[in-house]
Amino acid sequence: MADTKNTLTNAAGIPVPSNEVSRSAGKYGPLLLDDYTLLEKMAHFNRERIPERVVHAVGSGAYGTFTVTDDITSLTKAKLFAEVGKETEVFVRFSNVAKSKGGSDIYRDLRGFAIKFYTEEGNWDLTGNNTPIFFMRDPMKFMDFIRSQKEHPQENWRQDERWWDFWSLVPESLHQVLWLMGDRGAPMGWRHMNGYGSHTFSFINAEDQRIWVKFHFKTNQGNKFFTEEQWMKLQGIEPRWATKDLYNAIDEGNYPSWTMHIQTMTDEQAKDFPWNPFDLTKVWPHGDFPLQRVGRLELNRNPEDYFAEVEQAAFSPGNIVPGVSWSPDRMLQARIMSYADAHRYRLGVNYETLPVNAPHATTANTGYRDGLMQSDSSKGSRNNFHPTHHDYPQVAPGAAEPAHPVEGLADRIELDEDDHADQARMFYQMLSEDEKGRLVKNIAGSLGKCMDIIQKHQLALFRQADPELADRVSKAIGQVKPPQPDPKPAST
Ligand code: NDP
Repeated sequence: MADTKNTLTNAAGIPVPSNEVSRSAGKYGPLLLDDYTLLEKMAHFNRERIPERVVHAVGSGAYGTFTVTDDITSLTKAKLFAEVGKETEVFVRFSNVAKSKGGSDIYRDLRGFAIKFYTEEGNWDLTGNNTPIFFMRDPMKFMDFIRSQKEHPQENWRQDERWWDFWSLVPESLHQVLWLMGDRGAPMGWRHMNGYGSHTFSFINAEDQRIWVKFHFKTNQGNKFFTEEQWMKLQGIEPRWATKDLYNAIDEGNYPSWTMHIQTMTDEQAKDFPWNPFDLTKVWPHGDFPLQRVGRLELNRNPEDYFAEVEQAAFSPGNIVPGVSWSPDRMLQARIMSYADAHRYRLGVNYETLPVNAPHATTANTGYRDGLMQSDSSKGSRNNFHPTHHDYPQVAPGAAEPAHPVEGLADRIELDEDDHADQARMFYQMLSEDEKGRLVKNIAGSLGKCMDIIQKHQLALFRQADPELADRVSKAIGQVKPPQPDPKPAST
């Protein structure tokens, strides 16, 4: 048999006679319709783009290892935490939130920090951010929030006024707005930022006891950031600064790592907590709920193919393993459905059979059959319905969660505790004078572009957090001129 290893073929494996010249009727005649080589090449190219993520479209990722450093087996029965020293393969995707694919990755925005743990009990996806909080606590507002961050529907560019318009009318966003406008809102790439599970989750131990838990991944590279002037300039020169920084560090063997910590809260503590412990706009103060070290996350292998492994990577908070579970956090509840739904639209119903998304340390054994791009024929003649007297996989009653009580009337009940200023104040007052100065300047440079009514509303919210903050921002608006491109292009 001829050696075809180096022979270019079409998708059917047929040798391609030319990759540069089309078939035509003579030298000056039209092309021939039977040039299937050209037709297939064009047709494939026309279909090479898939729907981009509606959020977190810009990103990069890498494989690595999670290693347990501290025993938490009294808290969770999840096997990935079963013993100190245990290693689990991971895939992590970092991202920006608002810009569309092709946008820069170092502008001011939240960052996604999504981790897929390939455990022996299936994949656990922790779809975190680089911030422990978020702009809202009810998912009904999320879609509007994202639109405020995206391009204007007619003018088609992103506009500061749109996000301040939204924030100024959504008081619970105040804490996250300060966080975003501060130093951590423009991290120096993916390696120099923390990751947080953000939501409240729960751990379940071998005795079926549940404890509320929050996840923190602290960067071992140190938290670093770009000033407003730095990232604005740099994104023109190197718009994929973060992508390049991560890839090159791993390529050079300079593996980035994070230390995983948890905070835990019992039901009794939850009752005494001054805020709703499931409110995504609030942290659990470190002083009351100290960080407990759990393990080390290291990234040590770049993907071979960006599209196959990073673009098609799909994470879902719905993917939890026995010993880890959700909480009544409203935002988390919505994400359980929404992420998988988005992937089914973007990648098709069998997206979890793609190599980056499939389990690595166990094998999926679903009852699902067929659907677009099904390539798994291993179920063969196995019965395709249940219950049946024929061969079918057994369920695992041991994987069921312990029951937990719920109460109250089914209704649309707002979490209108009017507590939006408390932790915003804590945040502002925790900053050093230098950090406060940069925060005020960053806010003024952006809020200063907005119409008066928006500024007025937002300043009133700042005043509730700390009158000093409101006074300083108010003074700075008008004094700070945002950087402008040179209006006179050079001519020849
Ligand atoms: P502490 O006062 O004990 O510690 C402050 C925390 O803020 C540190 O963990 C630090 O992270 C982080 N931090 C420092 N500078 C910034 C910045 N410019 N932007 C964002 N975070 C920063 O925290 P408390 O728990 O008492 O909460 C006080 C405030 O700290 C809160 O309002 C909250 O916004 C913020 N914070 C709290 C976190 C929590 O989970 N409790 C996590 C992150 C921030 P590090 O030590 O990693 O450098």
